[in-house]
Amino acid sequence: MNESTDHFRSALKVNEGVDQPGQVNLDAVAKFARKKKKLPEPDEYFQRIIEGNITLLSQAITLVESSLPHHQEVAQKVLELCLPHSGNSVRLGITGVPGVGKSTFIEALGKNLTSNGHKLAVLAIDPSSTRSKGSILGDKTRMEDLGADPNAFIRPSPSAGSLGGVARKTRETIVLCEAAGFDVILIETVGVGQSETAVHSMVDFFLLLMLAGAGDELQGIKRGIMEMADAIIINKADGDNLQKAMLAMAEYRNAIHLFAAAPSGWTPVVEKCSAKLNVNIDTVWQIVENYLDLTKRSGYFYNRRKEQMNNYMFQAIDQGLKDAFYHNHDIQKKMHELQVKIGKGKISPFIAAQQLLRAYFEGLKSSDSQEH
Ligand code: GDP
Repeated sequence: MNESTDHFRSALKVNEGVDQPGQVNLDAVAKFARKKKKLPEPDEYFQRIIEGNITLLSQAITLVESSLPHHQEVAQKVLELCLPHSGNSVRLGITGVPGVGKSTFIEALGKNLTSNGHKLAVLAIDPSSTRSKGSILGDKTRMEDLGADPNAFIRPSPSAGSLGGVARKTRETIVLCEAAGFDVILIETVGVGQSETAVHSMVDFFLLLMLAGAGDELQGIKRGIMEMADAIIINKADGDNLQKAMLAMAEYRNAIHLFAAAPSGWTPVVEKCSAKLNVNIDTVWQIVENYLDLTKRSGYFYNRRKEQMNNYMFQAIDQGLKDAFYHNHDIQKKMHELQVKIGKGKISPFIAAQQLLRAYFEGLKSSDSQEH
């Protein structure tokens, strides 16, 4: 077995762990730590990742996904080293209801891309994964061909935690994949709502897959998601369905005329394709390239990435403040007392919130003055 196949197999091994619920990544890390006794140094992860070593990339992603403090410590150091080597990719979000053909589409697009010399990483954000046991990419029968392609790396959704937590892990995973030389990062999610906003906030281009002949309501796609899309692609435009797909295209083209102009200066494109027959998939990629061309020339592409980075910082601050507040022992105690009072109608929730916040900040001040 040559080295690249070996690395690839290891990546798949990690995938297999994902259909376990909850703490699956922690288990994988613990097993890895036991076997290895000691984690490699951050510098070793970094060196191997930029050489394109998939085994170390997978292991570093597992650390990113772990909530153990010493794993996080190593992960953050690796990320810091990788950051200057990241960014050189196209980040593409893909959404659509289950059954629309996302994995078939990703497989077709992925094969086209890798045969044109691209290296593709497929990640996922799947908020249902903790509930429904196994994430959208956890099903091993999906994307089998692409999974066997040494220039493709498929990583299932991190399954534990809140959407915010999962989104953060995915952003960090993007950095690692880019440092490892993947120049197309594809992030898949299911078209049900909140996770779209999270994916939209981390990609350059957002693609919505739709079916012909099923109303928007039927497809469960909210208007807000359609408004986020840079392209709406009617999939399964083949056989008897072709005519319906043409009609649907006309309808969606009319519908998007009513949307407000996007700050990118880009007008969303409506197209059709057959993922199964690999028809028009190259056209879809051409749309992405046209978008990149326009937005790189106008500078929007770079500004948006900067804005996204700033937003990550604000989100991290929000999260940090919340964690510090809610994990504070004194606050937890006081909160419990106040909840009882609210229940008895003895205090308004707003006054209670003010009292808690004041108690928290005063607690900070007094612990600060004790330290100095
Ligand atoms: P996902 O749940 O969105 O990932 O959808 P899948 O990729 O698993 O596809 C769901 C079903 O639709 C599968 O049976 C596919 O073979 C089928 N399918 C996907 N794309 C096409 C297409 O372009 N044409 C036709 N006729 N069937 C398709």
